[in-house]
Amino acid sequence: MCYPCPRTILLPFSPDHTSAYTHTNMKRKSCMNCGGQELHEFLDLKPQPNGNRFPGPTDAEAEPLYPMSMLVCTACWLVQIAEFPPSALLFEDHPYITGVNVPVVEHFKRLVPRLVKRFELQPNDLALDIGCNDGTLLKEFAASGLQVLGVDPCKGTWELARQAGVTVFRTFWNRAAGEALSRLSVVPDIITSTASFYHVPDLHDFVAGVDLVMGPKTIFMVQGVYLKNLIERNQFDHFYHEHSCVHSVGPLRRLFAEHGMRILDLEFSELHGGSFVVTVAKNESPWATDPAVEEAIKAEEQAGLNSLDRVRDNADRLVAMLRALKADGKRVFALGAPVKGSTLLNFCGIGPDLIECATEINVRKIGRLMPGTRIPIVDETALTSQPDYYLVLTWNFLEFLRQRYDGFLRAGGRFIAPVPEVSIVGPAERLPGANGRNSP
Ligand SMILES: [Zn+2]
Repeated sequence: MCYPCPRTILLPFSPDHTSAYTHTNMKRKSCMNCGGQELHEFLDLKPQPNGNRFPGPTDAEAEPLYPMSMLVCTACWLVQIAEFPPSALLFEDHPYITGVNVPVVEHFKRLVPRLVKRFELQPNDLALDIGCNDGTLLKEFAASGLQVLGVDPCKGTWELARQAGVTVFRTFWNRAAGEALSRLSVVPDIITSTASFYHVPDLHDFVAGVDLVMGPKTIFMVQGVYLKNLIERNQFDHFYHEHSCVHSVGPLRRLFAEHGMRILDLEFSELHGGSFVVTVAKNESPWATDPAVEEAIKAEEQAGLNSLDRVRDNADRLVAMLRALKADGKRVFALGAPVKGSTLLNFCGIGPDLIECATEINVRKIGRLMPGTRIPIVDETALTSQPDYYLVLTWNFLEFLRQRYDGFLRAGGRFIAPVPEVSIVGPAERLPGANGRNSP
């Protein structure tokens, strides 16, 4: 097999990126972290379509549904999906493009200089980004003078990274990928995995690959949605098929310990509605462990990360609100067509009868339909009229969107935020209360 671009390299090992794709559902019989057999149902969101496959308007083919049930292991408390759909289905043609999400780009612009300073990274040090997507994060490392290398299996996005001048290995990350890079004597000074370390069917295989290319001072930085935020803020739509698990600090400490690594420190942010950045190094590395790690684990224990009773009530309130608006003759669009929006709409049973369309800026989604609910996706920049309300499916960018839609909100338009509690949102300065939200 050959690729037209000399800067995209197929790693010299087997399995290559195509044979690494799985084509069958993987049912979990034991914990993916500790191997424990006591897996209890945490939340069942019912069978749903692949939230990242957007059918065309004339695509009449029935969309396959996959179970979406989350389990929790009572030995290590990792929350994980009961059945992981085929990775070829999930990732071969993944439509997400990092660089179109301004808050993510801005987050990386703040994050990289902090990492460079904290871990004393030098010009010409090497940054390896696993799941590099369009190279957005690596561009920031390059701006700090580092050499950069990307790994990504998805058609489309690695081409964008290549066009940005990033050398990309097109493959899934696993032990075999680590062995191949190790044979090429690649030893990164920092390895990053943002929004991809919870998209993997086998966490140990992933970490084993990282371990193989780590030097004694190498930093492994992981960023992901944080389970404690997700539960406290009722963000059940963060569960979707490609999220094989949702991380918290306690289970992660156990995972890394098994590979001779320790968590150095943590940083919490509001990105994606509540995320955390975890930095990890080999046990023998010179970096100190921050006491915040132990404190975070205690806080997780005190929070009792094992209940999502509010989810169903909140979903019922959202549907009731949309029905009332419809009966009142109001027009409602969805703002954004993210994969989490698919979870929310399918779980709540919200279709084109309640939401006219979803607006998007991602050209790979415009002109297509929301999975399962078949709500048309239209070009946000080409609207001829505005609705009365937007249901903000990209609620993780709510504050950014409030600024961007200032004119709409000032003219009387309103946002509906689906989480943490269903609420109507207008311009910030007109509303009482510190968080700028009104009750419906
Ligand atoms: Zn476990």
